[in-house]
Amino acid sequence: MSRKILIKNGVVATLAGHRGDGQELDLLIDGKMIVAVEPSIEADDVEVVDASNMLVMPGFVDTHRHTWQTMIRGLASDWSLAQYAKGAHATFKHLYTPSDIYLGNLLGRIEALYSGITTMLDWSHGISSPEHADAAAQGLIDAPGRSVFGYSAHFGFPNNTPIDRDLRRLRESIFSSNDGLVTLALGLRGPQYTSIETTEADVRLARELDLNVTVHGGSAGWGRNRPVGRMFERGLLDHRTTVVHCNTIGDDEVAMMGECGCTASVSPFVEIQMGFGWPATGRLLKRGIRPSLSIDTCTAVCGDMFRTMNTALIAQRGLDNEDVGGAPDQQGLALRCRDVVEFATIEGARACGLESRIGTLEVGKEADLIFLKMDDPTVFPVNYPLGMVAISGHPGLVDTVMVAGKFVKRGGELIGVDLPHLRQLGLQSRDALLARARDEAGADPSLALDGTWQPPTAEYTADAVTGRNASGRT
Ligand SMILES: [Zn+2]
Repeated sequence: MSRKILIKNGVVATLAGHRGDGQELDLLIDGKMIVAVEPSIEADDVEVVDASNMLVMPGFVDTHRHTWQTMIRGLASDWSLAQYAKGAHATFKHLYTPSDIYLGNLLGRIEALYSGITTMLDWSHGISSPEHADAAAQGLIDAPGRSVFGYSAHFGFPNNTPIDRDLRRLRESIFSSNDGLVTLALGLRGPQYTSIETTEADVRLARELDLNVTVHGGSAGWGRNRPVGRMFERGLLDHRTTVVHCNTIGDDEVAMMGECGCTASVSPFVEIQMGFGWPATGRLLKRGIRPSLSIDTCTAVCGDMFRTMNTALIAQRGLDNEDVGGAPDQQGLALRCRDVVEFATIEGARACGLESRIGTLEVGKEADLIFLKMDDPTVFPVNYPLGMVAISGHPGLVDTVMVAGKFVKRGGELIGVDLPHLRQLGLQSRDALLARARDEAGADPSLALDGTWQPPTAEYTADAVTGRNASGRT
């Protein structure tokens, strides 16, 4: 007999229709499934969990994170996009051992979970061998939480290495089922980073293996080579394609995404910080695409969904206000807090192909949910729960996290995670990576952890990265 949990006395935002955007509801969970959501549930033989002073809502879904980079977190806080390409990718990536990538993924997944991200798509482009791929996958499997392993072959500037054998191997071994907490997708290099012929071969393989595809499209100058348009022309877009960023693609390319039923992932913080272009939220909405949200790289930006929602909301409001020439009229602001909370939950689930299983709190879905403290002095008194989440929310509010009906965090503490031990391993890994980077021929020996290291970017021209003189070539 499965264990039943009755969550009582909470204020609940189900995000299922407009029922329960902040009313008192009880939730009954049987095993991993939500079996009742009602104002007052009485049941025997259940574990009653008191959610007084809590907002109970679906867990967040981050649809794009390069989790292997956890070990070099924060290094790129003051870097341009070209410096990030040089510093994070050209300097560090090839120095990662399988053990480093394992710890990066494990610690990065735990970080996300701690702040309420119950599902995370790891866009895994730190992989340089089958052993790295296995280690990256194992990091996600060993962390509590639901994850999508977005496998990407050795990633970089135009390369045409086929991915066939390794992706097929993963699909037939670790990821032979679609039902587990960790599933497989293809992190497609796509037209921004490889030829259209290689892109086509990769997409055909993903379709043969029944995998979703997630692809960077519209990232600063790299995105001006018609990545979406060229995939569209070859019939490579469908409802199982997520296009990440979308900043510099054309309006006609956004329309192509809409026509094919593609989903989108907007990473507003890094896009504004590194000059990808303004977040595409409003352009996507105009063509009927409700985006999901993502963190992208914790080398440069924060890793939690609250500040990601803040940034998405305020960037689009700024653009909308500019469009109307100042303060908007009495209709209020077009993009609502509820919208961005949906982007961070159900739209993320949709982008991961999980919308029938998670993303809202309703009967028949799996119980992936979080409790946020409403009596915290930073938000008390709460007069608009979804406004609190989108505007004032922060990781310190995340009291409880449940994934598939199982508590993974309670009372602010992760369950079954030996953080002191993992921190120690993480620091050893980070220090060894730094030592190897300093020893590397050509690497800057001044590489320091005090913000002074500015990677030289001579090989990343304005044409290639910023696109200021973009020619439209691959
Ligand atoms: Zn990315």
